[in-house]
Amino acid sequence: MVQSSILGFPRMGRLRDLKKANEAYWAGKLSRDDLLAEGKRLRGEHWKIQKDAGVDIIPSNDFAFYDHVLDHIQMFNAIPERYSKHGLDPLDEYFAMGRGHQRDGIDVPSLEMVKWFDSNYHYVKPTLQDNQTFKLASNPKPVRDFLEAKEAGITTRPVLLGPVSFLALGKADRGQSVEPITLLEKLLPVYEQLLQELKKAGAETVQIDEPVLVFDLPAQVKEAFKPAYEKLTNASGPQIVLATYFGDIVHNFDVVDAAFKNIHALHVDLVRNPEQLQQVIDHLGPKQILSAGVVDGRNIWKTNFKKAIEVVETAVQKLGKDRVIVASSSSLLHTPHTLASEKTLPEEVKDWFSFASQKAVEVAIIAKAVTEGPAAVREQLEANAKSMQARASSARTNDSKVKERQSKITAEMHNRQSPFDTRYAQQKEHLSLPIFPTTTIGSFPQTKEIRLARNKLVKNEITAEEYEKFIEKEIQDVVKIQDELNLDVYVHGEPERNDMVQYFGERLDGYVFTTHAWVQSYGSRCVRPPIIVGDISRPAPMTVKESKYAASISKKPMKGMLTGPITCLRWSFPRDDVHQSVQAQQLALALRDEVVDLEAAGIYVIQVDEPALREGLPLRSGKERENYLSWAVDSFKLSTAGVKDSTQIHSHFCYSEFQDFFHAIAALDADVLSIENSKSDAKLLKVFIDEDYPRHIGPGVYDIHSPRVPSEQEIKDRIEEMLQYLKPEQLWINPDCGLKTRQWKETKEALTNMVNAAIAYREKH
Ligand code: GLN
Ligand code: ZN
Repeated sequence: MVQSSILGFPRMGRLRDLKKANEAYWAGKLSRDDLLAEGKRLRGEHWKIQKDAGVDIIPSNDFAFYDHVLDHIQMFNAIPERYSKHGLDPLDEYFAMGRGHQRDGIDVPSLEMVKWFDSNYHYVKPTLQDNQTFKLASNPKPVRDFLEAKEAGITTRPVLLGPVSFLALGKADRGQSVEPITLLEKLLPVYEQLLQELKKAGAETVQIDEPVLVFDLPAQVKEAFKPAYEKLTNASGPQIVLATYFGDIVHNFDVVDAAFKNIHALHVDLVRNPEQLQQVIDHLGPKQILSAGVVDGRNIWKTNFKKAIEVVETAVQKLGKDRVIVASSSSLLHTPHTLASEKTLPEEVKDWFSFASQKAVEVAIIAKAVTEGPAAVREQLEANAKSMQARASSARTNDSKVKERQSKITAEMHNRQSPFDTRYAQQKEHLSLPIFPTTTIGSFPQTKEIRLARNKLVKNEITAEEYEKFIEKEIQDVVKIQDELNLDVYVHGEPERNDMVQYFGERLDGYVFTTHAWVQSYGSRCVRPPIIVGDISRPAPMTVKESKYAASISKKPMKGMLTGPITCLRWSFPRDDVHQSVQAQQLALALRDEVVDLEAAGIYVIQVDEPALREGLPLRSGKERENYLSWAVDSFKLSTAGVKDSTQIHSHFCYSEFQDFFHAIAALDADVLSIENSKSDAKLLKVFIDEDYPRHIGPGVYDIHSPRVPSEQEIKDRIEEMLQYLKPEQLWINPDCGLKTRQWKETKEALTNMVNAAIAYREKH
């Protein structure tokens, strides 16, 4: 029979229970035992949901209090000494690595945390020493969790991150030079031991994730798979299901052929790359099983049963029913817990969605349809077909006016009227800015009062007019503070914005919002992405009122502030029925209107933030990546090119390695670019010089993630460093990013030092 399986389940619980428990524990309001008990309760609940859904193969060890990669770091004793030397309780040592520890005379920052592939989930980077050793923790977590499930009557398939991915996703610690993959030989015995212990505990099959297989891999990493899996697939150990996701593995078939001869099953992502199916089947050994990832682990749409069943049937025809598993494409970590919590979604739209708990039911239904024939699940198939049909033909999905406007987009609409030099000459006159102009990135501290007022508005405890007055007062305050600070280009401070994407989504047609659809971003932090359901358009201006008001009370140029099309797209759940480039273009048209309206309202500096442009970059270089950059750049240009030469377009990027996509950054043709820079040395800027970047840049002069106030001298040193790479007339002086997470006290102090440093340089030049 065709079995069903889930690769991993979200950890937070229905009401973000894990977030609440973790934060209570960190605040000293929940005991260690109570936190552990809450973890156990959540695991039990999640296993039961999957069991009740009819899933045959249920994962364990997918749960983590903070991050699953961090679980492995601790379990292998790959704990840098700065954490291990304090003799902390293992749970506190774990959190110290995840989020830093500043208590009882101990002061250590966290390990580095970076984005998990192209998702918005962040993992803790294994941070390794030149003389690194590994040792398996006693009673390791995968064994504990397996036994815990067994006791609850559920035989699970433990999930491990594979040794090659664990190392390849890691890095050498500060001051160390070890190439992580060279530690493989030392690490493998720990995996062997762990697999033995799992087997002894009763685990017949173990899922090992090697997601790095979707990357273009350096030879050394590629070659590591063979020795690794020769060791890990011996007859006395459990059977291994090797999982890849978020891309295809066709380009790494040489690894599959050489290294995976003895694995039990291979999992591939057929949502992202359905076209790899045939070739993957051809590369399986005579007894190997295919785990077919046909239910999307990255999005919230109902699976199209007809299409998914066709894919699975194709595999079954070649392999037979016993050699095919129906699975989620990846872990469901990236999807919200359950649709059942949504009480305010329009019924029509709700019927199109499937969150983690619903996806568990989906894999079971698809498996049953293929095993027993469609008649066994006729009702479900019919309901699904009806839902697909309704969505495809819904007035919410299709807006002919939007499509018509898209069909009329011309090449010229992407370009400013004149080249940069001409524009700049006009902007200089129009804005009369000094050399080394100072500005900020948009948001000022989002105080308790601001959040409170917003909550009151949502709960109807204050009227819209009262709220508007409150926002006006906030804007007055930040304008006054900027007067006092003597900044050159002002911002209105974004007090009215809950979130830089949600705020725009709420003002655009084509979006819907959830109340509980939280997804873990890192640790206890969750995000609730808005959902793009249909063609996007702007019914009315979105930011003009606030910006216009701010400009009216300010004596210096006021910068309008928008979130760019790619960031709106990437930080939402996108549609899966039209290409993302189409959605980006619709967002771009809506933003273009906003930009033009801002200009008409007297806003002559407009910043369009694109911090998510980099993370959308396809995981492999080549055609797909170039293609993405081309439509991403086009949508940015389409959104910004509708203004006069004298209007200055800014864009902002959070931390990015610009080398990978410099030509795209240059192609944006933004007059001014502000970038997060303060934590990297000025070398980040080298590419701008090497490539003769002609326009203006504001590399952040101080870190905004910490309350620390940089001294004037420190900022001068940064400027000096930047001037090694940039011409004085190119340089803007600004912080790394928005200041919304900061307090006012440090904000004012830091900006005072920043402005003084800029003035000192102005006098020098
Ligand atoms: N304008 C936004 C702010 O200042 C930019 C935030 C970001 O880049 N993440 O908050
Ligand atoms: Zn930023």
